[in-house]
Amino acid sequence: MRYTSSDGPLEPDGFAALAVPVLADGTVPEAALRALGPAGAAAAALAARLAPHVLGAHAWVAPAAGGPDVLLVGVGAADLGALRTAAMAAGRVADRPRVASLLAAAYASADAAAATAVAEGWALGAYRFDAYRSRATASRAEEVVLVGGDPDAVALGAALGEAAGVTRDLVNTPPGDLPPLALADRCRELGAVHGFTVRVREGRELAQGGFGGLLAVGAGSANPPALIELERGRPEDPHIALVGKGITFDAGGLSIKTNLEMQTMKADMAGAAAVIGAFVAADRLGLDTHLRGYLACAENLPSGSAFRVGDVLRHRNGLTTEVVDTDCEGRLVLADVLAYTAEAAPSLIVDLATLSSQTGLGPRMWAGLGTDRAAVARLVAAGAASGEPGWELPLHEGYLDHLRSGVADLRNRDPAFAYAPGAVLAGLYLRHFVADVPWAHMDLGISVMRPRGDRAWAEGANGTGARTLARFLLDAAAAGRDSGSADQTAGNNSSGPTIR
Ligand code: MN
Ligand code: MN
Repeated sequence: MRYTSSDGPLEPDGFAALAVPVLADGTVPEAALRALGPAGAAAAALAARLAPHVLGAHAWVAPAAGGPDVLLVGVGAADLGALRTAAMAAGRVADRPRVASLLAAAYASADAAAATAVAEGWALGAYRFDAYRSRATASRAEEVVLVGGDPDAVALGAALGEAAGVTRDLVNTPPGDLPPLALADRCRELGAVHGFTVRVREGRELAQGGFGGLLAVGAGSANPPALIELERGRPEDPHIALVGKGITFDAGGLSIKTNLEMQTMKADMAGAAAVIGAFVAADRLGLDTHLRGYLACAENLPSGSAFRVGDVLRHRNGLTTEVVDTDCEGRLVLADVLAYTAEAAPSLIVDLATLSSQTGLGPRMWAGLGTDRAAVARLVAAGAASGEPGWELPLHEGYLDHLRSGVADLRNRDPAFAYAPGAVLAGLYLRHFVADVPWAHMDLGISVMRPRGDRAWAEGANGTGARTLARFLLDAAAAGRDSGSADQTAGNNSSGPTIR
């Protein structure tokens, strides 16, 4: 799909459809009426009658006088978030080859941000996942022309929406087709197109490197675990590290889940997929930030070779964990990979993980925790600007006791802890592995999948994290290249980490 802009007068004949905003009071904004010209009066009359006044509601109208079909779309309060949602709804249904969007005209001022919101929303709404259908239901849309949109603002929105589409494709792919090494292959393909390098570590290299948690979690599967490393930018620059949990399928291991709980567990690699999406976005946005990505990938299955309840694992940084529950596996793979990530002394570590269903924030929000609370706040702000809301939770020291083990340094769960704050405990656990590197952790919880489609979203993966990370990186670049400590010396980072 192409997203272009036009600031000339609208020539309706060149389009198969026009997307027209309808405000909450049933009126069409003046700016849209002006752009529509003679068709404006008819559109306004129809809008008042058909009343798609609710955000994202729509109605198709074929004007009696001929010309392109009109797609009336409710834009609600017409703030940036509502515009993006309305554009998603339009993108979902506007499967005509060439469509002109007047949606941004609903925004109070002719702001570049409105064009970005519309392009971003349209790209999110036009997303299809048809690879596994015998007959594709793919949209016939080929080009969307945003009337009155600044070209750079349109390109930014499209890049954000389409990078999230890469994340959604990865999460939606059936788990049998995307075990760790297949995910590594996808990274190599994307890296070749989007300018990042990919290095994959597995087997003996992981054993010699002390990745005891990653190896244990992957031990029950015939598909071996892997650490996938991505990198872009100038090696001599300080870098930001993005870490993703990549459990390509989580059956829970021997602490096996119910069938119902497994239904969404192909999405347990959504953190890794968001990191990959952020690398794609960084390329499309032309960011020159030095980025390293670390994807902790394994398949958590029960079998005769699986790790056990009661096993003690030794991690990359020497700490040990007693396994109380093999279904608390995300923190075990992240323990090793965070420790490894910290060795390269990034200016900041941001990790993303579908770690706990107990964030207390439900299915529409992620939880932020970390030692760098300013970075957490910037992630929360980037999430809010992306329509991916998150909220900070405390690393409350009073709960540390619950991570004490009788035989090891830590345990991965307290089975006797009623009302356990799962996301807080997971965050406290992970903090043991980041050394003194500034660290922000996004517990994506269960926010990464939509069980049902709605006006704006297709059913399935929603790409949570990719756009938030992209905006976070954009903001960091705007604030001076580097969101971490300014005194970071390049010398610490010029020779990558070595696996011993
Ligand atoms: Mn699990
Ligand atoms: Mn998991």
